Amino acid sequence: MKIYLDGKFCSERDAKVSVFDHGLLYGDGVFEGIRAYNGRVFKLKEHIDRLFYSAKAILLDIPLTHAQMMKATVDTIRANKFRDCYVRLIVTRGVGTLGLNPRSCKNPSVIIIAGKIQIYPAELYARGMDIVTVPTVRNLHSAVNPAIKSLNYLNNILAKIEANNAGVEEAVMLNAEGFVSECTADNLFIIKQGVLHTPPNYAGALYGITRGTVMELAEQLGVKVSETNLTRYDLFNADECFITGTGAEIMPVIKIDGRIIGTGKPGPLSLKLIEAYHAMTKVSGEPIYNK
Ligand code: PMP
Repeated sequence: MKIYLDGKFCSERDAKVSVFDHGLLYGDGVFEGIRAYNGRVFKLKEHIDRLFYSAKAILLDIPLTHAQMMKATVDTIRANKFRDCYVRLIVTRGVGTLGLNPRSCKNPSVIIIAGKIQIYPAELYARGMDIVTVPTVRNLHSAVNPAIKSLNYLNNILAKIEANNAGVEEAVMLNAEGFVSECTADNLFIIKQGVLHTPPNYAGALYGITRGTVMELAEQLGVKVSETNLTRYDLFNADECFITGTGAEIMPVIKIDGRIIGTGKPGPLSLKLIEAYHAMTKVSGEPIYNK
């Protein structure tokens, strides 16, 4: 595997960062997860846009331009000869002194890893998933805004541990007001009487790229989309539910906190959106080869 590290490709064994990198010491940095399908990078521009927005929010100067970052991502996939893969793009604050002052970090570090990822067991996609709400509340947007895709994922990891302890794969996180925000690494949708609902970003949801794509596809299918605050009651009484993310793609949800959702099987509109999503990933995106 060839890994992009600060402008050079190196082997997995040589891809090392300093113990003084503030990405490691403090989770001070930002990242993206991107997928390539069928020789094309899906929604590359949108992911690089979000990387730059996250970096701007934490006053981190990415040492590459937007165009250079797009190129470095495609080059890394090409160097590994992949047509279908998952790319992890990381920008850390860089090496600094002990002590959290970011001014001691003179050179942010850029890392790009192209590999494979399987977030959930394959059989769950056909059967649908059980999820639970957990006690850990999603970060306040006035504290660490969940719109920032930062390296500091402890909020999400705590929720994931609570889900695992409850014997399920994923958690629904509520915000401090008790409204649904999102899952630990996925956005959440419900369908009620033919309308697709998802929590608004101010409820503590990431501006998910898959979320945006699904909303677009729903509109193309003539389905009304609504971004409104949702409570646990709304989830329990949904006709259908699914979660979305680049890594997870679209996963139907069939049980929440012990309540069966709809018929207890992936719902018809969920399946339609999943089909439309996969059809789109096959044909759209930035070509990796033969430009
Ligand atoms: N929420 C969180 C907290 C995430 O980390 C992610 C990305 N895995 C998502 C939602 C989904 O975003 P996207 O569709 O852009 O991958």
